[in-house]
Amino acid sequence: MGKNLTTRSEDYSKWYNELVVKADLAENSGVRGCMVIKPYGYAIWEKMQAELDRMFKETGHQNAYFPLFIPKSYFSKEASHVDGFAKECAVVTHYRLKTGEDGKTIEVDPDAKLEEELIVRPTSETIIWDTYRGWVQSYRDLPIMVNQWANVVRWEMRTRLFLRTAEFLWQEGHTAHATEKEAIQEAEQMMNIYADFAENFMAVPVIKGVKTANERFAGAVETYCIEALMQDGKALQAGTSHFLGQNFAKAFDVKFANKEGKQEHVWATSWGVSTRLMGALVMTHSDDNGLVLPPNLAPIQVVIVPIYRNDEQFDAISEEANELMKSLRKLGISVKYDNRDTHKPGWKFNEYELKGVPVRIAIGPKDLENGTFEIARRDNLTKEIIAKDAVVEHVQNLLEEMQKALFEKALNYRAEHITEVDSFDEFKEVLEGKGGFISAHWDGTPETEDKIKELTKATIRCIPLDKKEEEGSCVLTGNPSKGRVLFAKAY
Ligand code: AMP
Repeated sequence: MGKNLTTRSEDYSKWYNELVVKADLAENSGVRGCMVIKPYGYAIWEKMQAELDRMFKETGHQNAYFPLFIPKSYFSKEASHVDGFAKECAVVTHYRLKTGEDGKTIEVDPDAKLEEELIVRPTSETIIWDTYRGWVQSYRDLPIMVNQWANVVRWEMRTRLFLRTAEFLWQEGHTAHATEKEAIQEAEQMMNIYADFAENFMAVPVIKGVKTANERFAGAVETYCIEALMQDGKALQAGTSHFLGQNFAKAFDVKFANKEGKQEHVWATSWGVSTRLMGALVMTHSDDNGLVLPPNLAPIQVVIVPIYRNDEQFDAISEEANELMKSLRKLGISVKYDNRDTHKPGWKFNEYELKGVPVRIAIGPKDLENGTFEIARRDNLTKEIIAKDAVVEHVQNLLEEMQKALFEKALNYRAEHITEVDSFDEFKEVLEGKGGFISAHWDGTPETEDKIKELTKATIRCIPLDKKEEEGSCVLTGNPSKGRVLFAKAY
């Protein structure tokens, strides 16, 4: 096809990195681990944001904004939280630069040292719970249902466009509740919203579960998650929702008077998804010809390409295209007419294939004569000639069909890549063979989990919520186990 993309079977990782750049989603920047999200990539992120934001608001949340900087002392207040994040914090120590003695270079002014260093937020629990102390006095002030759209910084050592960057965009919800039960319900609700979004908009099937103690968020009592499977058999944590118990309320002294007038600590949740979802989207559906986007998130759902030899033909085609655009737009379908005369139709076909535009409509002189258009779908690369009058309805149905087909395909792939194993030899064999999720018995100890990770690089992705009670023996130690958990190598 002339796109010079590495194929997935040649080198999956290289294919991904090339595709993200060639499809104009993002590129590396001059700053280590930080990316530039390009307009086409950002347009997809905006669609994700819009849908998630709608879902959050429908469930009673409001957006707010908290500072980028967190005083260092806040971090020391919740012990396990600081433990978890200390290794990847960017710290602001000075607030001024000055010209060096050579009169040219710029250096940090040693006289402008901050009294207290500021951490660039890796997540905002501490600053938010310090704020909530002032917002909550009585049970009447609860719940607080707040979300923030922001950037965060985690000094990651091994970074990869979208999947793991040092600075990333995300949303973080932070809620405060009067009871434990209500907070747990909230954490579960948000996991369900993430799963709904992943499956119905991204067409990415996910497994809902809880993390083991090893993989739990620093400061959480329980971490709920959605786990997806990429086309190379590696898992990706696509979203997390934490039940934080009273840990942050205790650390930041956030209490309320209950109905009986007694002081109690507030219960908390936090939950987030990030630009990592862009990586999940690319890695789940795309192929050796480029991006494949689910219609629900494609910035351009339909592109019309004219094929003509002279101005007369071009004008006649443009007239048809304009009519068609009007009808499609009435149905809320986003459509672009690429009437540039600077590029040949073949070049355009290639370009829109690379960019994953779901439906391409070509109109040529033959079509004018016959009253037809040529409709091509990106997911399976098939083409059909459709009578002009039937095109609008056809396209509308096609978009729905493609959304479903992408999900089904990913679901089938996942079904073929969940393997139950009962011995450690089998475990290693499957992991090194077809990969995917391995459903195996585990004795429930962090030591065994660590040992398995050390031996195989696989981690427990989650304890699935629909886990069956089943007596068995741990795949490594042979000790008793009450059910299977899902292992995988992960991004
Ligand atoms: P956490 O606060 O650790 O529960 O993470 C919240 C969300 O951000 C999860 O969906 C993670 O998958 C995602 N995430 C964590 N670290 C990164 C990173 N370095 N780059 C992109 N996304 C991330």
